[in-house]
Amino acid sequence: MNPEIVEQLKAYDGRPLRIMEVCGTHTHEIFRQGIRSLLPEKIRLISGPGCPVCVTPVGYIDQAVALARRGVVICTFGDLIRVPGSEASLADARKEGAVIKMVYSPLDALEFAKANPDQDVVFLSVGFETTTPASCMAVRNAKNEAVRNFSILTANKTMDQAYYALRDSADAFLYPGHVSAITGTAIYRQLCADGISGVITGFTGPEIITALTVITKKCAEGKPFFVNAYPRVVTDEGSRPGRKLIHEIMEPIDSEWRGLGVIPRSGLALRSEYADFDARKKYNLENISGHANPACRCGDVLKGDCTPFDCPLFDRVCTPEHPVGACMVSNEGACSAFYTYGKEAQE
Ligand code: SF4
Repeated sequence: MNPEIVEQLKAYDGRPLRIMEVCGTHTHEIFRQGIRSLLPEKIRLISGPGCPVCVTPVGYIDQAVALARRGVVICTFGDLIRVPGSEASLADARKEGAVIKMVYSPLDALEFAKANPDQDVVFLSVGFETTTPASCMAVRNAKNEAVRNFSILTANKTMDQAYYALRDSADAFLYPGHVSAITGTAIYRQLCADGISGVITGFTGPEIITALTVITKKCAEGKPFFVNAYPRVVTDEGSRPGRKLIHEIMEPIDSEWRGLGVIPRSGLALRSEYADFDARKKYNLENISGHANPACRCGDVLKGDCTPFDCPLFDRVCTPEHPVGACMVSNEGACSAFYTYGKEAQE
C-alpha cells in the first residue's frame, strides 16, 4: 500500500463518516488486509447487502427445497445448499434423498440436463449483474436447442435500486467493481444526481484504501459525488453485450431482499417468451413468504443497523459449521467475515 495514502486516511479529522462496502468480497478483503485497523474513529465501515446468497429471501430456499422434494434435480452454487429455509435447507433435503448437484455455472446445469433427458433439472439462479448473463445464456441455449427438462428458479437482482433503499444508512458507498464492469457508470451518475455518493473500486488493499481516501476528500467538499477509481476494469459503457443479453431474456420486477423487504424494480424474471424455462411457472410453485430464525439478525446486518457481534447467536449457536442465517454461510457474508477475522473486527 502507498504509505502516503495510508497516512492521509489515518489523519482524517473531518465529520464522522459512514461508508458502506456493498460487496462481500470488499468486506473480506478489508478484514484480510487489516484496513479497519488503519481507520480513524471518525470513519465507520458498514457491511452492506452485496452478497447474493445473503440477500436471497428464506421463501426462495423453501421453494427450492419443495422442488427438490418433488424429485427435481436441483443444480446450484455450493453456498446455497447450506442456507437454512423455514424448516429445512437443501442439505437437509439431500439427506432425505433429494438430488442436489453443485455446479460452477448455469451452463454446467444445462449440460447435465442434456446428458440426462429423463430427469427434470432446475438451476437456482441467484446473483447480481455479474452472474445473471450466464443464466440468460443458459436459457437462450436451452430454448435454441429445445432442451425441455431444464428450467431456472430466478432470484436475480440488480443493485441500483438497493442504493436508493439504503441511502440513509451511509454517507457514501464503496461500489462493487465487478457489477460496475457490466453496468457501466451511467447508474452511478444518476445516483449522484439524486444525491447519493460513492466510489467504484477494485478488490486489492491498495485499491480499497485509495477509494476510502477519495471518499474522505470528496465528502469534505460537501456535495454528492461519484468517482470511478477502477478505470482499468470499469468503463463508462460497461458491458453492452452483457446488458443486451439480460434485456433480451429477462425483465425488471419488484423483488424481495432479505432484511430490506420488497424493493421496486430491483429483481429480474424471465420474459414471457421464455416461460417454458421458468421453474415457478413450469412447476406451479406458490409464493412462500418463509420465516427465518427470529433471533437471527441477518436483516439488520445487511442494512448496516447492527454488526454480527450484536447478534445473540453469533459464535454461540451460529458458526460457519452450523449456520443459522445466510450471512454466516457464504464466504461473502458479513457474519462469515466477522467470524473469520473476529479479533480484529472486535477491536
Ligand atoms: S450470526 Fe448467524 S444468526 Fe446472527 S445474524 Fe449472522 S447469520 Fe444470523
